[in-house]
Amino acid sequence: MTIGIIGAMVEEITPLLERFGEHKTHSIGGNTYYEISRENHTIFIAYSKIGKVHAALSASVMILKFNCEKIIFSGVAGGLSADLKVGNLVLGSKLCQYDVDITAFGHALGFIPESKLYMESATELNDIAKEVAKARGIALKEGIIASGDSFIADSKKKQWIVEHFNAVAVEMEGAAVAVVCDSCGIPFCILRSISDSADGSADVSFDEFLESSAKRSADFVASMCERI
Ligand code: SAH
Repeated sequence: MTIGIIGAMVEEITPLLERFGEHKTHSIGGNTYYEISRENHTIFIAYSKIGKVHAALSASVMILKFNCEKIIFSGVAGGLSADLKVGNLVLGSKLCQYDVDITAFGHALGFIPESKLYMESATELNDIAKEVAKARGIALKEGIIASGDSFIADSKKKQWIVEHFNAVAVEMEGAAVAVVCDSCGIPFCILRSISDSADGSADVSFDEFLESSAKRSADFVASMCERI
């Protein structure tokens, strides 16, 4: 089995590289991909850089170049739901792009013709995440994750995303990975640990908790790989 793990920032993949140890590197499209050989699996890890376009490029390379059969995104997110606090883990049941707007032509907000408003993540991977959470006694919230190319640090914008997309967390890459995987028929899972609450103090919270939250997500994803 070949598994791809994507993070958008160095802090999101460093704990994985430290945990998995020896790797080979590949340079493609301005990014480095790390190849790890394990007993049952080959794991590719990518630091995609921030945002939907970069995440889509990394997911495409993972699938089309390295033949990854499953893709997991590990990283941090802003919490939208009141019960998601810094450090909590959230699993994206569905992913959407809150910044897609062709409503001028009568389409629903977030919808692109011949695509989907909500991309569903893979039950088989989400079930593994739930098993890991149970085994470790960790609470794992499942819900819609909304992605867009902005860092949300404003209570009004946050409320707008909740009202229009019913999302529990916001970030900048998940839906891009979801679109690529869905288009290519590759099961995917988006796991995030909360770094901030997407409100007026999100930037300060993000800086303080990025490293610890990114590590929490990475450790969780590494445990998932042991069960795949
Ligand atoms: N501090 C970084 C920029 C971080 S952008 C720099 O200066 O380079 C935020 C990253 O964390 C993105 O990868 C996004 O997916 C995630 N994220 C965390 N909180 C977020 C929020 N409130 N809104 C949007 N993305 C968020």
